[in-house]
Amino acid sequence: RSQKTTARKILLEFQEACDTPLSRLRQVVDAMAVEMHAGLVSEGGSKLKMLPTFVDRLPDGNEKGLYYAVDLGGTNFRVLRVQLGGLEGRVIKQEYEEVAIPPELMLGTSQELFDFIAAELVSFVAREGDDFRLHEGQSREIGFTFSFPVKQTAVNSGTLIHWTKGFKVNDAVGQDVVAALQRGIERRGHKMRIAALVNDTVGTLAGGRYWNNDVMIAVILGTGTNACYVERAENVSKFTGEIPESGQMVINMEWGNFWSSHLPRTFVDELLDNESLNPGEYGFEKMISGMYLGDCVRRVLVKMAQEAGIFGTNVPHKLLEAFSLRTPDMSKMHHDDSSDLKVVAEVLKRVYGIQNTTVGIRKIVVEVCDTLCQRGARLAAAGIVGILKKIGRDGSTANGSVRRNNMFEQGDMNGYHDELPVNYTSDGRTVVAMDGGLYEHYIEFRNYMQEAVVDLLGEGSKNVFIELSKDGSGIGAALLAASHAEHV
Ligand code: ADP
Ligand code: MG
Repeated sequence: RSQKTTARKILLEFQEACDTPLSRLRQVVDAMAVEMHAGLVSEGGSKLKMLPTFVDRLPDGNEKGLYYAVDLGGTNFRVLRVQLGGLEGRVIKQEYEEVAIPPELMLGTSQELFDFIAAELVSFVAREGDDFRLHEGQSREIGFTFSFPVKQTAVNSGTLIHWTKGFKVNDAVGQDVVAALQRGIERRGHKMRIAALVNDTVGTLAGGRYWNNDVMIAVILGTGTNACYVERAENVSKFTGEIPESGQMVINMEWGNFWSSHLPRTFVDELLDNESLNPGEYGFEKMISGMYLGDCVRRVLVKMAQEAGIFGTNVPHKLLEAFSLRTPDMSKMHHDDSSDLKVVAEVLKRVYGIQNTTVGIRKIVVEVCDTLCQRGARLAAAGIVGILKKIGRDGSTANGSVRRNNMFEQGDMNGYHDELPVNYTSDGRTVVAMDGGLYEHYIEFRNYMQEAVVDLLGEGSKNVFIELSKDGSGIGAALLAASHAEHV
């Protein structure tokens, strides 16, 4: 009788706490733009690290030859080779392999982890067909996608600041990750050159830009979440190096660590954070990304099981296990369109051994998924609009239009618009390259996100295009290896 009523009451309260009306989203947009600015001015000036990547030119299509990429970032590890044929040939041929990262390596030693990567790379190279060819005298050049915060000292060196996303290989922190991989390769008796060390967002940006000159921003929504974008180098006041010739610098925001008092924090976020490997850090990521969304749902269900008995008198013990509900299962339940919600029933049974739920209870489970999916997607949208605002491409610039004749006119309405990016194109289009399993597979998430971007931008949304750039990060790293190679 009252199970459902009590559960509904918990649901309503939770929905209220998660609410992201446009007014609140706009505050998040502004906070993002403000924090970006602060993070560029001084080191430690914001929770947004705003890391200079030393990438000051992006692929333009002229890249030629055979290049490799290695991608370590979350759930899977990938190796890739690509034969590039310049403007005419473009991507002549590419091959990649993907392996799951053995979980024990995520908590082991640096040498074990980098030996594993090196071994996969070496064996991948050994299995190369004759249709892939190096130039005469060319060594194997690699783009290394490493999707954790790194303090770069050059385009191909940098030290790990800290781990995220469930990794904790303590002796790697503070190490040069390029040198570590290089040692792993050499231990196997091979010689290759790591030409570029790139964050996955930067790889996605490069991969997107290779095909489309309007790509200015890249966002990852996968196991974790992050974004990067093209900034005017002179705006990066904390950067002490030489201003690059291009006048541009790609900035890895590490937006997963963004925080603002305007974010709708609930009991779920508090519990999840306290029990995480990095408490107090990466609060934005913990509300948005694939590693955490399913666990947020689980925590609400635990409350409903404990306080309303929705799964019977005993709480199923597996339900109390952290991360037992994976985000793909959450999205499966969310997308259940059968009248009796049999997919929800199937997932609850398979994952938790829960049987005999009523349709009413299953409906509540779907609503919990919907609430958290919507919150995450709308916050991601606000983040994107915050970047657009920072670079003056949110359509709110001085003339009330993003079309303008003077490329360097100041588009400043509120102090946080900077001058327009150097290669601002005349038709005013801006493309955001997206990648990551969450964005790719979780349709409701994608829909909620796009809808919120349009709501936030209004008219300005006509010039903003959000495009899936699938596996762009792998290709992008190889492209950056090509443009930073020793031999051409
Ligand atoms: P990574 O971020 O580890 O490099 P991916 O970009 O492939 O890898 O993203 C994998 C993540 O995407 C998974 O951890 C999962 O959270 C999320 N994901 C994968 N498939 C789905 C799905 N069907 N629905 C929702 N999320 C998914
Ligand atoms: Mg990835």
